[in-house]
Amino acid sequence: MNKKFSIKQFQLRFPDNDACLEEIKQLRFGDSLECPKCKKENKFYKVSGRAAYACAYCGHHIYPLKDSIFDHSSTELKSWFYAIYLMAQTRAGISAKQLERELGVTYKTAWRMFHQIRQLMAIDGSLLTGEVEVDETYLQPRPYMKKKLNPTHRLGSNYADNSKIVFGMVERGGRAKLKHVKSNGARVLQPEIGQNVQKNTTIYSDEWSSYNKLEKMGYPHFTTNHRRQEFVKGNNHTQNVENLWSNMKRGIKGVYRHVDAKYLQSYIDEYAFRYSYRKTAPKYMFDLILSIVARPGSSYFFLGLVLFCGLTARLRILSKSVSAPLRPPDLMKALSSVSLGVGLLSLGIVKV
Ligand SMILES: [Zn+2]
Repeated sequence: MNKKFSIKQFQLRFPDNDACLEEIKQLRFGDSLECPKCKKENKFYKVSGRAAYACAYCGHHIYPLKDSIFDHSSTELKSWFYAIYLMAQTRAGISAKQLERELGVTYKTAWRMFHQIRQLMAIDGSLLTGEVEVDETYLQPRPYMKKKLNPTHRLGSNYADNSKIVFGMVERGGRAKLKHVKSNGARVLQPEIGQNVQKNTTIYSDEWSSYNKLEKMGYPHFTTNHRRQEFVKGNNHTQNVENLWSNMKRGIKGVYRHVDAKYLQSYIDEYAFRYSYRKTAPKYMFDLILSIVARPGSSYFFLGLVLFCGLTARLRILSKSVSAPLRPPDLMKALSSVSLGVGLLSLGIVKV
């Protein structure tokens, strides 16, 4: 079977917006659809000029795009599909610049489309099992490395630059989860392992002290000593997570050049997704990403995100107010960010 998905095949399958809409209708409702109004299993016909289908019996309309990121989007469905096609074709990632060039949309629109798709690529919540390798990495040289490379380098303002630490958990032969973490300390890494790796799973890591208590937490734990150049010792290694690091770093440096710490999680979600589905052929990768992106509730994801950010800001203020008097500017900031987010969403501005 041909596992490639050429641009020609793509254009044949999705020649226009209607063909894309039909694909989403099939994804969401399948072949036989019971009309919610007349309760009969009928044929539905495309309503011309609208992203809707009408029941052949009673004329009731259904909207396949409802509550997905395509809903109310001013970008053509065909363009969205092409963006997903590009994402499915590449292993290293794809830049918004390329989409801007190929679709003729603005850079801002292209960036937002990728960002929205990427955010939905976040892997499912199920726990990692089997054999899991864990490791942390810095997306910029660590201060002491900088010093080593350039002895005259002064440990100045960058000294405490821990803004781009990524923690990786990789199932051998399986999935990966990547987290943008605030530090590589035990207080941060241990809870991440607790939340993402099933108890009794064997964990492999280096000898970093943050992993010292894994046995106590209920995980059989093996370590390699990198300082003694002990990188591979039989089954005891962290090669998989290190391979993922090199792919991720090559991609981020080569394709994205610069990734803002604010958006880092969505970029690394994309790499975790690609790693987890690395054995999926491009042909099926497209359908896989589309099925995730087209599902209902994807637009609520953004509403949820805005509310969550607002809520955490509020909680931070409340926890602060226990020890120090409440600062009105902080409260105003949190409230205004929540109301602005909700306002923008309701106006549909946040949508591409
Ligand atoms: Zn009907």
